[in-house]
Amino acid sequence: MNHATEEGFGGASGYLTIDLAILARNYQRLAAEVAPGRAAAVVKADAYGLGAERVSSTLYAEGCRHFFVAHFVEALRLKPHLPEEATLFVLNGLQPGNETAAVERGIVPVINTLEQWYQWTSAAEVLGRRLPAVLQFDTGMSRLGLPPEDRATLTGLLEAESGIDVLFIMSHLASADDIDSGQNEDQRAEMERITGEFPQFPVCFANSGGIFLGKAYHSVLARPGIALYGGAPTVGQANPMEPVVSLDVAVVQTRTVPSGTRVGYGATHVTTGKARLATIAAGYADGLLRSLSGRGAVYHDGVRLPIVGRVSMDSIIIDISAVPEGGLAPGSLVEVLGPHQTLEDVARDAGTIAYEILTGLGHRYERRYR
Ligand SMILES: *Cc1c(COP(=O)(O)O)cnc(C)c1O
Repeated sequence: MNHATEEGFGGASGYLTIDLAILARNYQRLAAEVAPGRAAAVVKADAYGLGAERVSSTLYAEGCRHFFVAHFVEALRLKPHLPEEATLFVLNGLQPGNETAAVERGIVPVINTLEQWYQWTSAAEVLGRRLPAVLQFDTGMSRLGLPPEDRATLTGLLEAESGIDVLFIMSHLASADDIDSGQNEDQRAEMERITGEFPQFPVCFANSGGIFLGKAYHSVLARPGIALYGGAPTVGQANPMEPVVSLDVAVVQTRTVPSGTRVGYGATHVTTGKARLATIAAGYADGLLRSLSGRGAVYHDGVRLPIVGRVSMDSIIIDISAVPEGGLAPGSLVEVLGPHQTLEDVARDAGTIAYEILTGLGHRYERRYR
C-alpha cells in the first residue's frame, strides 16, 4: 500500500519497509527449529507494530494455524481477517463481559485464574455448548496464569464435567533471552511437574528465546514473537533471524554552523567547531525515543551520523559533517534501521530492548510491504 500515491503527494517523511518474504523465512526457520512441534505466531500489539493482518495472512500461507494476541480487542479486530482454520488466542485472559463475544466469534481465551475458569464454565452452561480454552500456569514469573496453590482445585474441577475443552496448557519464560539464567531451568522443571499433574493435555511453552534454549523447551507448540520480526531471540549471541523491518527518514533541512552554536531544545549540544547539521523528519512521536538524545545515530551510505542535542517530537538534528558537502539535501533519506543499524543497536543506544523500539514505531511513516 502506498499512501503517498493514494493521497496524491510524494515525499513522505519516512518509509517503514516490511519485508513479508523475510518474515515468511523467519517463520520457516523457527518452525524447523521446533519440529516436530509446531510454531504459532504472537501477533499482539499489531504484530509488534508491523501490521497484524498482513503478518497473519503471510504466516497463515506458511502453515501457521495458531495466533496469539494480548487483548480481547485485538482478537476482535483480527478475527475477521483470519481464515476459519486459524485459531486466535487471547493471552491476557478472559475479562468479565467478553464471554459472549468470544463464543460468537470463536475466539479462544487463555484461562489464567480459577475465576476465569468459572466464568467460562458458566458461559458454556448458559449457552448449552462446549467451549475451548487454553490453561496458563505461572511457573515463576508472577504475571499471568494459575499459581501453584490453585492446581489441586483445578485437578478437582477437571474431574467434574465442566463443558470446557482444554486445547493445551501453557506457561511463559521470564528469562528466555538469557541462556545463562538459572530461571530457565527452574521454570522448565516446574512445567514438567505441571505436565505430570495434567498429562492429558499437550503443552505450549517456548517464546522466541525459549526456542533457542534447546529441545527440552520446545513442546508441542512454541509461541515466537520477536524472532519472527527479526529481533534477536538471545541477548549477546549472533542473531539467527533476518531483519524484517527497515526505516529510512527524510532530511527536511540542512545548515552549516560555526563553532559555539547551540543545537536543539535546552541547548544540550553546542558545536565545538564548524559543523554541518541536518534536521530529519521523525522524533519521539514516531518511536525514536527521547533517550536517544545525544546518543544514537543514523547512517547515510554507511557513514555514521550522530544525533546531536535532544530528540524533538517530530524531528531530530544530526551532524552530517562526515558526508561530503551536497551529499545530503532536503528529501534525501537517512537509514535509521537497515544494513548498518539493527533494532538491537537502536535499542542499546536508547537504553531499552528491541521490543520497545519495534512496537513504538509510529504511524506517520509511509508503510511499504514487500
Ligand atoms: C509476548 C509473548 C510471547 C512472545 O514472546 P517473544 O519473546 O516476543 O517471542 C509469547 N508468550 C507470551 C505469553 C507472551 O506474552
